[in-house]
Amino acid sequence: MEENTKIKSGFVTLIGRPNVGKSTLMNHLIGQKIAITSAKPQTTRNRIETVYTDKRGQIVFVDTPGVHQAKNKLGQYMVDVVHKTIGEVDVILWLVEPTSFIGQQELEIIRRLKQTNTPVILIINKTDTIAKQEITNVMKLYQAQSLHFADILPVSALKSVNIDDVLSAIFQVLPEGPMYFDEETITQQPMREIAAELIREQALRLLQDEIPHGIAVEINRMRERPNQPELWDVEATMICERESHKGIIIGKGGSMLKRIGTKARIEIEKMTQAKVNLKLWVKVRRDWRDNPMLMKSYGYDPKDH
Ligand code: GDP
Ligand code: MG
Repeated sequence: MEENTKIKSGFVTLIGRPNVGKSTLMNHLIGQKIAITSAKPQTTRNRIETVYTDKRGQIVFVDTPGVHQAKNKLGQYMVDVVHKTIGEVDVILWLVEPTSFIGQQELEIIRRLKQTNTPVILIINKTDTIAKQEITNVMKLYQAQSLHFADILPVSALKSVNIDDVLSAIFQVLPEGPMYFDEETITQQPMREIAAELIREQALRLLQDEIPHGIAVEINRMRERPNQPELWDVEATMICERESHKGIIIGKGGSMLKRIGTKARIEIEKMTQAKVNLKLWVKVRRDWRDNPMLMKSYGYDPKDH
């Protein structure tokens, strides 16, 4: 990149209710140009960043943990991260279903988005499931809301319809800026952090509210098996605070641990694009939440608590 070439760059987050197609869209947006990097040190937990670069500039997709219901402290924490993220990014992509009405959840999102100045690009996804005429109606429905959209785009993430328009719309709104990441930033260290995050995410999902203070995950080993580039060995330890929590994580006859392991393995395989042999252990470490260094090394930023 020549020094005097003006490029655009910035941070983008994707929001929307579960199953609306966020992951599908993301996969198609980045295509083969995927570059996963970890959160930079000053950013908050859970921010897996995916970088898209072309001659127009660089888009850094910041993953929010999803608008989970805040049932416990950790849940509340995640919701706070979402709020924080919305105010910190340069562009918000909001995905909605192509329904003929605006649901309660969507109205709530509109309410929150009105409290920020961040430009919002509305994406009406799954347009392959409705008639062309209806698409216009859905667009009108959102246009009539009291929230200004930088753009409203009908797409089909699944069928790759209008995906390029999404990138154009983002570059349209992004400010001029530097390249935040070079293409070589795909290294194993960030992948370890992401692997830890993927395991933690699956554990939280499956354990629901049963581990009140959450768990931390440490990757002990992560490498391609020598002479077998299609196979990765990953060994990880899940860390909790009490013996009783350990019992819950392991489950009857190891059943819970097995479920977490299977789900996490599938997610890690998507990242490494190779088979993964995942070994999971569970350990009790009573003090990890009181120790800022430990918390940091597990991906929590104590400043956020
Ligand atoms: P997320 O929970 O928002 O990340 O949603 P996913 O990306 O996991 O998608 C949820 C489901 O919707 C999957 O079965 C997708 O195949 C499906 N899906 C996503 N985008 C589209 C689309 O444009 N059209 C159709 N028909 N299905 C879609
Ligand atoms: Mg998803």
